[in-house]
Amino acid sequence: MNPHSFLNTKIEFLKGVGPLKADVFRKELGISVFGDLVKHYPFRYIDRSKFHTIASLNEEMSYVQVKGTISNIKVFGAKRATRMSAILSDGTGQMELVWFQGIKWMKDVLRPQVEFIVFGKPTVFNGKFNMVHPDLEESSKAEKVIGPSLVGVYSTTEKCKVKGLDSKAIQKLMKTLLSHPGFAVEERLTPELISHFKLMDRPSALVNIHLPADEQKLAAAEYRLKFEELFFIQLRLLRAKWNRQQSVKGKPIGTIGDLLNGYYKNYLPFELTNAQKRVLKEIRQDMGSGKQMNRLLQGDVGSGKTMVALLSMLMVLDNGLQACMMAPTEILANQHFQYVSEALQDMDVRVGLLTGSTKTAHRKFLLEELKEGRLQIIIGTHALIEDRVQFQNLGLVIIDEQHRFGVEQRGKLWMKDDFVPHVLVMTATPIPRTLAMTLYGDLDSSVIDELPPGRKPIRTIHRNESNRLAVFGFIRDEIAKGRQIYIVYPLIEESEKLDYTNLMEGYDTICKEFPLPTYQVSIMNGRMKAVDKDFEMARFKNGQTHIMVATTVIEVGVNVPNASVMIIESAERFGLSQLHQLRGRVGRGAEQSFCVLMTGEKLGNDARLRMRTMVETNDGFKIAEVDLELRGPGDLAGKQQSGIVNLQIANLAKDQRILELARNAATDILNKDEKLILPQNQLLVEQLSLLEEADANLSRVS
Ligand code: ADP
Ligand code: MG
Repeated sequence: MNPHSFLNTKIEFLKGVGPLKADVFRKELGISVFGDLVKHYPFRYIDRSKFHTIASLNEEMSYVQVKGTISNIKVFGAKRATRMSAILSDGTGQMELVWFQGIKWMKDVLRPQVEFIVFGKPTVFNGKFNMVHPDLEESSKAEKVIGPSLVGVYSTTEKCKVKGLDSKAIQKLMKTLLSHPGFAVEERLTPELISHFKLMDRPSALVNIHLPADEQKLAAAEYRLKFEELFFIQLRLLRAKWNRQQSVKGKPIGTIGDLLNGYYKNYLPFELTNAQKRVLKEIRQDMGSGKQMNRLLQGDVGSGKTMVALLSMLMVLDNGLQACMMAPTEILANQHFQYVSEALQDMDVRVGLLTGSTKTAHRKFLLEELKEGRLQIIIGTHALIEDRVQFQNLGLVIIDEQHRFGVEQRGKLWMKDDFVPHVLVMTATPIPRTLAMTLYGDLDSSVIDELPPGRKPIRTIHRNESNRLAVFGFIRDEIAKGRQIYIVYPLIEESEKLDYTNLMEGYDTICKEFPLPTYQVSIMNGRMKAVDKDFEMARFKNGQTHIMVATTVIEVGVNVPNASVMIIESAERFGLSQLHQLRGRVGRGAEQSFCVLMTGEKLGNDARLRMRTMVETNDGFKIAEVDLELRGPGDLAGKQQSGIVNLQIANLAKDQRILELARNAATDILNKDEKLILPQNQLLVEQLSLLEEADANLSRVS
């Protein structure tokens, strides 16, 4: 059969599916045609010849297979069953099996005193091993296995299971599909790529990913499919970059003029680090090349990205153009505005601030000034993207982003007038290389890999409730030395009410511990009006208050060099990059700074690893790698961009090497055939158009 029509066959035409199952497949797993099922790869494999004893289990194990008999089946819940449990015994010990869903169905499957094969992840609860929602089947009904036999395990949902589509059933359907007489899939990579990278061909890879003949074949299949996935992403990004470079011209930034020179000679408050100088040179070359700059600037917290931004803006102003800088929050926009206005106060440059809380009259004035070209620099939030914001001649857009702006929004800013301005995207915290290559793979990249001199590394310690008095004592000592303190409480949307209660209780405690008139305590949270926030921020910045009790509104960018202690309450509730950002609020002056992570006494594995990572290193790039492993790329990329890194099979935390090979391969091809017109590359072009089409459909649906 023609591969296209085979893969587009409706799933209900697969033997064993039918309309009912097809419906669940579609609704629960998004599988509606054969091709969707083929792409539903196993998320792990179990060696069916290997059994663990209950006595040998430990919590570090991922998924294991255990054989034992069932007893003590119990159902809980008054009107409606909410939980069911059973005991599995294998002679070496006992383990509890637990279900919260699909109970009605499980009741029929479980039978006391019958031997079952169970697989799942062992966890410890109340000192005993248990498995939540394990897969299981009766021993006597299981196929006999001789020698190692890898069986794919498929993700599924409770609703699927109820309709008989558990992992085992999906595996069976996969067998039917792959041995279908019409089974046909086409090759997507060129013969050159396949032979150069010694890749398994695509049909064999698909068979072996689902029904591995052995471990080697499985590894080869995984490698091939990962390579293919990453290769096409890179080819797309690099081609988009190439196309853009051909089709849009940047505004030439040729001359280094009075503003930059004047500022550099007369007002620059410190010597630039070598990394800052190098990056500025890269930016200058880019903007002077006649092409449009699209550059990603990465640097750890406190590495001095703002000064690079400021100097880049001056370069553009010197050429008679305007510059704008967009920040993810109002506080941060305010702060950039202050930084830039203060730096330029003795120079003849006009700077404006535009945010959601800019008053109508002033907004009108600003927009007028921008359009007439009298305002040279505008700093603000999302408010800058609105259509009514028109520039006379915009030369440079800087986005300080903490990954909060999606690709679309970035694009929108570019279209501010007929000419395309240069774009510099700065990340607030470093992101892992693999993620940067995927999210920002169409941008050039600059890295500030050096902190300004004289910074003492922040000392980070992990404490819990039993150390609280000592921590208060420490705060008193530091205040006596003239330092200022941040105390931060989590604020998570889902538990917002409770979090505010915690914050206010914390504030009360702190006010009692640190009473007036000796101590001044500020409070700041997202519910306060912008003017009140500014007021409190200003008091703290001027040294009028000793302690700032706050939610994560102070997370990004806030810069008060005299603040040298950061206390993070319920630190286990924060992700690593957030902790690193928060910690980055201190260590900005010459004094020894401290970060205290306050947590509960009992911590899960994940939280323990996060705390340990924070205590062990100040290196944002290292922290970003651990974060990627713990959270996965979707979370790290932020909501708007998670789609791009939502990969089918490759793993950005683990497949760095394959990603680099794939990117190099894509670069090579474009170097030899930039427009992809050679006959041997038409296969790739076809595949790219299919991917683009699929993406277009996806964004239409969502
Ligand atoms: P980030 O990269 O996190 O945005 P900032 O731009 O806020 O960092 O810089 C942190 C602090 O370091 C600011 O007070 C800034 O003025 C200062 N700074 C930047 N560059 C240097 C330098 N080369 N030497 C000394 N201090 C610097
Ligand atoms: Mg910053």
